[in-house]
Amino acid sequence: MSLRDILIAQIRSEGPMRVSDYMAACLLHPTHGYYTNRAPFGSAGDFVTAPEISQMFGEMIGLSLAQAWLDRGAPDTFTLAELGPGRGTLMADILRATRGVPGFTEAAQIVLYEASQALRGVQAETLSHHRPRWISKIEDLPEQPTFLIANEFFDALPVRQFVRDGDGWRERQVGLAGDDLVFGLGPAQPQPVLVHRLDDTRDGDLIEHCPGLAPVLGIVADRIARHGGAALIVDYGDWRSLGDTLQAVRDHDATDPLATPGTADLTAHVDFEALVSACGQCTHSRVTPQGVFLERLGITARARALSDRLSGPALESHIAAHRRLTHPQEMGNLFKVIGVVAPEDAMLPGLET
Ligand code: SAH
Repeated sequence: MSLRDILIAQIRSEGPMRVSDYMAACLLHPTHGYYTNRAPFGSAGDFVTAPEISQMFGEMIGLSLAQAWLDRGAPDTFTLAELGPGRGTLMADILRATRGVPGFTEAAQIVLYEASQALRGVQAETLSHHRPRWISKIEDLPEQPTFLIANEFFDALPVRQFVRDGDGWRERQVGLAGDDLVFGLGPAQPQPVLVHRLDDTRDGDLIEHCPGLAPVLGIVADRIARHGGAALIVDYGDWRSLGDTLQAVRDHDATDPLATPGTADLTAHVDFEALVSACGQCTHSRVTPQGVFLERLGITARARALSDRLSGPALESHIAAHRRLTHPQEMGNLFKVIGVVAPEDAMLPGLET
């Protein structure tokens, strides 16, 4: 039975489902989920993420985190954590880039928050020399200084979608028209979590709410506030969600999110206001474009140094990768970065409060 058939049977017996439940099933269904079954990243996969484009991305992130660790007195045991590590490439690049920082890798206990068993297997291979530990519940983040990175993690968390109707909201749902999955709208209801959006929306506007965001970031911020540390969050999105950003990508092309559940990557833009609101007692940086962040950390000097050893097609692809990560018309503007630090602590290099 395909995931489509399973979802159709479920909707027939229980009625239309929330977009968030549909998204969760498509991504993480235990047998048919996208992340359960596929190796989605890289040029052969469905989409390419920043660490898969160039090692320079992980190098800059690693240097920012290592400098933050030095700024906090180089604690001799700490958690080096990643949310949604994909193929483990980013963490491997961070660890390679920070080898020259005395004591950093020795003091780091690597903790990976990953839902997909298949990807845990890939990460175990990529990071076999570093003995990472996996956690399934964010509450299991150790009680110690925590330095954390999340790249394109929050965009994979399921969102609910709501359409404004008077002072209420109609929830967008996935239902059936004959044997086809189709979007529909539930009845208008008040939504206490969306009260603040009555000020800046009009009838018919669609907004998204990610229920899984605050519980995860809340625990991360708690560890940092109580034990010290810093988090870097990189994702695509902007301040305050407005409009339908649910997107399905397969073979590097946009596709219909309802067409073949479980076979395409599904994401939604990240609402950076929601990220900031979940930081609790911690201080957060300004929302900073990825290109600006990477330039401040010296990616162009690093790109030049690497290019000395390259020629021909390798050099061309290296130049293209640098442009892709930083140029405003590529990933440089669409992707944003925020840093999260304990109150009174210095902000991470590359970011400002
Ligand atoms: N950070 C990686 C991969 C991004 S894709 C990169 O930049 O290449 C999203 C990652 O988050 C995948 O590893 C996916 O399996 C994981 N993921 C998605 N939803 C999750 C959840 N609810 N809990 C934990 N991990 C999740």
